[in-house]
Amino acid sequence: MRKTIKSILLGAVAVSLAMTSGCGKGNETGSESKSNSTADESTASYRRPLRAPEDYGKVIALTFDDGPNTTTTAQVLDKLEEYGVTASFFVVGDNITEDSAKVMKRAYDMGCEIHNHSKTHSDMTTMTEEQIKEDIKFTSDKVEEITGEAPKFFRPPYIAVNQTMFDSIDMPFISGYGSEDYNDKVDIEERAKRTIDQAKDGSIILLHDTAGNVRTVAALDIIIPKLQDEGYEFVTMTELFHAKEVEISPDAEIIYSYAQQTEMYG
Ligand SMILES: [Zn+2]
Repeated sequence: MRKTIKSILLGAVAVSLAMTSGCGKGNETGSESKSNSTADESTASYRRPLRAPEDYGKVIALTFDDGPNTTTTAQVLDKLEEYGVTASFFVVGDNITEDSAKVMKRAYDMGCEIHNHSKTHSDMTTMTEEQIKEDIKFTSDKVEEITGEAPKFFRPPYIAVNQTMFDSIDMPFISGYGSEDYNDKVDIEERAKRTIDQAKDGSIILLHDTAGNVRTVAALDIIIPKLQDEGYEFVTMTELFHAKEVEISPDAEIIYSYAQQTEMYG
């Protein structure tokens, strides 16, 4: 399972080329790509075919941490549906219950991506290699069991990283531009303003769908239309790197906040 993102992306491009129909706003269920993807399992469930990189304009990725849950995650999905956009969810394994799994599956079926934000949301810099691997595997297995597709990106809890983590985790590390939306003192307008002010082509927006985080749900009513007005297309993590033609290796010691980043921190 040491596939590089490059090979995954190339596989996805192949599927995209093989498909003849349009590739606008995709809410495809995946049955089509699943049925003809025997050549490369990793392409099994890209519900929205990738376009040629030059066919993307300004792109930005909405990401949500700390779900899934049956309340706020579901409200975020309602907003995404309302605006016809997709996002990526970095989930905590221990938050996946029988009920929240249904919400996570709904996100996946909408064309959103589900990625790994650890099992216990602990500071992994205090863990051994074995503990880290076990923790990551738990969440990846759980997501794959429910959606049929394993996570391909990892967001470290608290964005705390060390060499042992880089050595133990075979996924690209993702950070993003946050707005302190976990802080109750940061109101709706301020969350939206900080997010919009930091937006740039290729960047990753870091928000939280923690249960009860209703201000972030409300902020989406400002963030999404404003960035759409500015010409941004909301894309998934996979689409973001593809659109920017960035080939990342899981061994890259970079914590991406934007696709074109070449330094460890963006
Ligand atoms: Zn978190």
